Amino acid sequence: MKIAMIGTGYVGLVSGVCFSDFGHDVVCVDKNPEKIAMLERGEVPIFEPGLDALIEKNVAAGRLSFTTDLPAAVDGAEAVFIAVGTPTRRGDGHADLSYVMAAAEEIAHAITGYTVVVTKSTVPVGTNRQVEEVIAKANPQAEFDVASNPEFLREGAAIEDFMKPDRIIVGVQNDRAAQVMADIYRPLYLREFPIITTDLESAEMIKYAANAFLATKITFINEIAALCERVGADIKQVSKGMGRDGRIGNKFLHAGPGYGGSCFPKDTKALARIGQDHGLPMQITETVIKVNDETRRRMIEKITDMMDGHLAGKTVAVLGVTFKPNTDDMREAPSLTVIPALIGAGARVRVVDPQGRREGEALLPGVHWMDDAYKAAQNADALVILTEWNEFRALDLKRLAKRMAFPAMADLRNIYSAQDARRAGFARYVSVGRSDYR
Ligand code: NAD
Repeated sequence: MKIAMIGTGYVGLVSGVCFSDFGHDVVCVDKNPEKIAMLERGEVPIFEPGLDALIEKNVAAGRLSFTTDLPAAVDGAEAVFIAVGTPTRRGDGHADLSYVMAAAEEIAHAITGYTVVVTKSTVPVGTNRQVEEVIAKANPQAEFDVASNPEFLREGAAIEDFMKPDRIIVGVQNDRAAQVMADIYRPLYLREFPIITTDLESAEMIKYAANAFLATKITFINEIAALCERVGADIKQVSKGMGRDGRIGNKFLHAGPGYGGSCFPKDTKALARIGQDHGLPMQITETVIKVNDETRRRMIEKITDMMDGHLAGKTVAVLGVTFKPNTDDMREAPSLTVIPALIGAGARVRVVDPQGRREGEALLPGVHWMDDAYKAAQNADALVILTEWNEFRALDLKRLAKRMAFPAMADLRNIYSAQDARRAGFARYVSVGRSDYR
C-alpha cells in the first residue's frame, strides 16, 4: 500500500517508519528542508531509541523515503496521514489547527484516485469534518474519505508503543475507508492488537479524554504527595498501596515535578477550551491545569527552602532538562520553569542531560552545559534531579557529596531516599511527598 505521511516530527516520523516496516511503501513529507536533508543523509533529527536502525533498514529495503515535495508524495497514495503539530493557540488555549488545515488544502490539490485522508494529529472534535470541507472545497473532483486515527505513542518508547499498541482507534464514516485503515494496520491486527472503529467525533474525543485522564492521574498523585509531606506519610508507599488495586493500576502514579511534554499541557488546555466553547466547562480538567501549575511552583519553593532562601551567588547542578527520559523533547519541560526561576534568584546553574542540549541551548540561556553529573557537582551548593534518566538512577552519591561545596540534594523524581542520601554524606535531602531531612 502506498502511504504519504505529512509532518515528519515525533509522531509522523515514527508512524511512517513503522508503516514501512509493516511492508507499506511510505513517503515522509516535511516542509522543513533541514529535517528532510538530515534524513536523506541517514541522520535522525530527533532522539528516539531504536529509530535510526529501523529507518536504515527500511530505506535500504526501498520502502521508505523522505521529501519536501508534498504533491509528489500524495500523488497515487491510497492513504495520506496528517501528522503535523497542533500546538496551543496563543491567547485562548484552543488547539492551533492552522498547520492541519494548510496541509489539508495542499493535499486536496495533489490527490489522484480514491484516497483516505487520515488525521493522526491530536485535534478537537469536529476537525475531521472541517478537513473534509477544506478538501472538497479546494478540489471538488477529489475522490476521498477522511478518517481520524489519533496516536497514543509515548516519546522514548515510541516504536514499541506503535508496534504493540493497547488499541488502534479509527474513526470513519463508511466501510470503504474502514477497509483501507484495516489494510494499513493488518500486521498489528493479525497479532491481535485490537482496532476499535468509531465515528469521527468519538475518535477525536477518545484522544483528549485519554490524555486528560492521564494528566489527572498524575496531578492527583502530586496533590496527595503534597499532603503526604504535611501529614508525615510517604508517597512512594502510598502509591504502591494504591496501585496494587486493579481498579486503579500502578502506572502514572509516581509523584514528581508536575506533568510536561508536548501533549498533556496542550491537550488539557484544548479540552478545557472545547468544554467552554460548548457551554460545559471541564471542571476537573481545569482544576488539573491549575494544580499542575502549582506543583511546578512548589518545586521552586522546595529548592529555595532547601537552600535557606539564599540562591544568589550559589551554584546549582541540575540533572536532566528534557521533560522525561529517553527523549530530546523539551516542550513544556519542568526545567523550563524551574531553571529560569533559579537563575532569576541569582543562582549559577550547571546542567547535564544526555540528549537535551541540542534543543535546550536556545531555551535555557545562561546555563553552563556539562557532560557529567560529577563534574557538574564539583563545588556546587545544591544538586537538583529533574529528569530520571537511567544514568542518574545509580549515581555514586558519596562521590557526589564529597565534591560539593555544600551537599544538598533536591530529588524531584524520588529516585533516592533520605536514608541513601544521609549515608552518602548529604547534609540535606528533599524529595516529593516524603519527609525531608536537613
Ligand atoms: P512535531 O512538531 O514534532 O512535528 C510536526 C512536523 O510537521 C514538523 O516537522 C513540521 O515541520 C511539520 N509540518 C507542519 N506543517 C506541515 C506541512 N504543511 N507539510 C509538511 N510538514 C509540515 O509534532 P509531534 O510531536 O510529532 O506531534 C504531531 C501531532 O501528534 C500533534 O497533534 C500531537 O499532539 C500529536 N501527538 C504527539 C505525540 C508525541 O508524543 N509527540 C503523541 C501522540 C500524539
